[in-house]
Amino acid sequence: MKLILLGAPGAGKGTQATKIADRYGIVHISTGDIFRANIKAGTKIGLLAKSYTERGELVPDEVTVDIVKDRLTWDDCKNGYLLDGFPRNLFQAKELDTFAEIDGVVNINIDHKLLMDRLCGRRVCRECGESYHVSTLNGRTTCERCGGELYQRKDDNPETVDARLAVYNEQTAPLIDYYTEKGIILNFTGSEAPADVLFEEIKTVLDRLK
Ligand code: ADP
Ligand code: ZN
Repeated sequence: MKLILLGAPGAGKGTQATKIADRYGIVHISTGDIFRANIKAGTKIGLLAKSYTERGELVPDEVTVDIVKDRLTWDDCKNGYLLDGFPRNLFQAKELDTFAEIDGVVNINIDHKLLMDRLCGRRVCRECGESYHVSTLNGRTTCERCGGELYQRKDDNPETVDARLAVYNEQTAPLIDYYTEKGIILNFTGSEAPADVLFEEIKTVLDRLK
């Protein structure tokens, strides 16, 4: 199964991505994670990506498309994959069409009022990538799943979140129409309910797609 996960920053893509990848035995490919790992390691790609991610802007398309194109040739993609954070605009979507055949696009719609609080209160595990909201941590600073240290992403601050939401509305939201026209969109609505509630709905639909 080859899937795309679409949704505004803070819609809960990361959490759903882990669950989907686990259940269907497909690899989770997050371009945001790839950029963060490169920034941390100080690679050439990392140095380039840093200024864009810190401003909440998109890393240039040529760089991003090449990374994904290469990543999809790895052996672990043979059973399928879930693209999280890619494509982010129409150019990337059209490029993707030239080297991949996507079976379904899981689109998580969410009330934008929820997003600012979610993102600015988000804490992420350095080891496994699981995310939490400060309001549920009771001061805990380690991950429930793996014991890793929790940290706040540098781009989870009000100014950068504003910029990321604007970029999403202008550049990424049009992809919903693009994939609706292709007949492969699967629409879901996120809420304040626990992530498992949404996952149950996604599972029901994806089980039929398998
Ligand atoms: P978000 O929580 O905003 O969905 P991600 O972890 O997906 O965050 O991405 C973090 C940052 O990495 C983005 O703001 C952007 O700068 C960069 N990035 C991730 N994916 C892409 C992409 N497909 N194209 C360009 N830039 C990207
Ligand atoms: Zn963890």
